[in-house]
Amino acid sequence: MTGQQRIIIFSDLDGTLLDHADYSWQAALPTLKKLKEQDIPLVLASSKTAAEMAPLRAALGFDHCEAIVENGAGVLPPHVSQPTAQRSHDGLLAVLTSMPEALHSCFSGFSDWSVEEVSRRTGLDLAASERAKMRDFSEPGLWSGSDAQLQEFLQALKAKSLFAQQGGRFLTLSFGASKADRLCEIVSLYENRWDGPVESFALGDAANDVAMLEAASRGAIIPNPAHGGIGPMQGEKDGRIIRATMAGPVGWNESVLSFLANRVMTKTEVKKET
Ligand SMILES: [Mg+2]
Repeated sequence: MTGQQRIIIFSDLDGTLLDHADYSWQAALPTLKKLKEQDIPLVLASSKTAAEMAPLRAALGFDHCEAIVENGAGVLPPHVSQPTAQRSHDGLLAVLTSMPEALHSCFSGFSDWSVEEVSRRTGLDLAASERAKMRDFSEPGLWSGSDAQLQEFLQALKAKSLFAQQGGRFLTLSFGASKADRLCEIVSLYENRWDGPVESFALGDAANDVAMLEAASRGAIIPNPAHGGIGPMQGEKDGRIIRATMAGPVGWNESVLSFLANRVMTKTEVKKET
């Protein structure tokens, strides 16, 4: 690849590259193949754990790329199945335990649930649920208290340097760093590696993807009828962010193809002018 700016694709998994209901990515296969042929990195960015993402990343054929795990709370380096950075999950649970019981009891998370309960709440099978319970950096869960109590809970978390992010299914707690922060870090890493500017294209379907879509050079919103998806974004007005017509891997395939086709077109137009 000479002369053309190189690109990296950043993609959410559930409801974006993976079907919201059955977690399949069959419909995205043609484009995944194209990315591999063109040596375009695909950085998966999900609320999933390293234990869940490592086998998935390998199955998709992108084991050579970094993966953003646990909603940006950590990064899984290429070719490894265990994060090398320091785990922060034990410290997080300690903060929750130290909170007033009235608040703490309104939040129940993966660490409180049995493998069977995680399976029931996520639709994952038992083996996958066991991997989902292997937290390194964050704790996803559900809030059962009032909105006012939730505000109090969020304030108490903030006082202990903890953050909460609402995803498609769960409210996830961590010590910070979002998918957007990790996108910027990984882009810088590749800019150094490739010795030139990198264009990033991000895809997501939920509130926890919005900042990542804003941080990327370009992005695509994948509709998700299961939870209403992402509302109108500023970037849609100038065409920097597109909105897929179909949900899940079908919309993912369509969006990445359209992004790649536009780049080819732009390149041809530039050639004509010079
Ligand atoms: Mg999602």
